[in-house]
Amino acid sequence: MTGTVILADELPRTDEAPKGQAIAAAPGAGLSRVDVPKGLWTQCPKCQATVYQKALEENLYVCPEPKCGYHHRIPARIRIQQLVDPDTFEEFLPDLASTDPLKFKDRMSYQDRLREAREKTQETEAIVVGKAFIRGRPTILGVMNPFFIMASMGAVVGEKVTAAVERATDENIPIVIVTASGGARMQEGMVSLAQMAKTSAAIARLDDAGGLYIVLMTDPTTAGVAASFASLGDVHLAEPGSMIGFAGPRVIENTIKATLPEGFQSAEFMLQHGFIDRIVHRSALRTEIARIIDYAGK
Ligand SMILES: [Zn+2]
Repeated sequence: MTGTVILADELPRTDEAPKGQAIAAAPGAGLSRVDVPKGLWTQCPKCQATVYQKALEENLYVCPEPKCGYHHRIPARIRIQQLVDPDTFEEFLPDLASTDPLKFKDRMSYQDRLREAREKTQETEAIVVGKAFIRGRPTILGVMNPFFIMASMGAVVGEKVTAAVERATDENIPIVIVTASGGARMQEGMVSLAQMAKTSAAIARLDDAGGLYIVLMTDPTTAGVAASFASLGDVHLAEPGSMIGFAGPRVIENTIKATLPEGFQSAEFMLQHGFIDRIVHRSALRTEIARIIDYAGK
């Protein structure tokens, strides 16, 4: 696919999930305010404008300032509401939870870190997977949650991604994975690195079976996730302004002893260099995903 930027959706939003009320009713509703928004007003990290919280919610957590359009990070449940047809999401493997294979402890024990993340997000792990309809098309969906230990990939994330890919293969329906990750979960050491191979192998089998795999990269998609299942799609979409890359810019500069170009590791830079196919405004994602599914004849 040629590099293109898809701007805001031209279609009416009548079939979107109802806004405020649906968000409040969603499982783990409290986490809708984890990132952004505590209180009535929020300051946009990009344009510094003070934005009325409700206006931000109604605008899919995209900054409504005309020249800004900053895409806030959002929890998995809100992403799902924004993407799928109302009341069609059926989650699978909701209770799969990390063990602590290395009995790892840094500033705090891994067990405590997991407990804290679960309390904060009301999720058991850093990805939610299930089956849903997107504009009427049956789809397997995986959505990472950037608020759960930076959506790092341990054994559970690897297993859920693999299960989702296998389900898409078995049912012969498309799969969409929304990525946002700090990479492999260091508290699981080698076990987390093995997930890169495991997820990649499942995707190879999906590919052999002629399946369709769409990746939506959101801010940030980095490290072990960027280097495995996030980069193996048939089509790669990204939200505007997302940070996409492997190692951080400072590490790279120190390693190669050179200054990196401006905007390096932005979605826009990645589009120019052929690493992703399209940048899509959040409000246009459903339409664009449905269009790709139709285009692929799935
Ligand atoms: Zn802004």
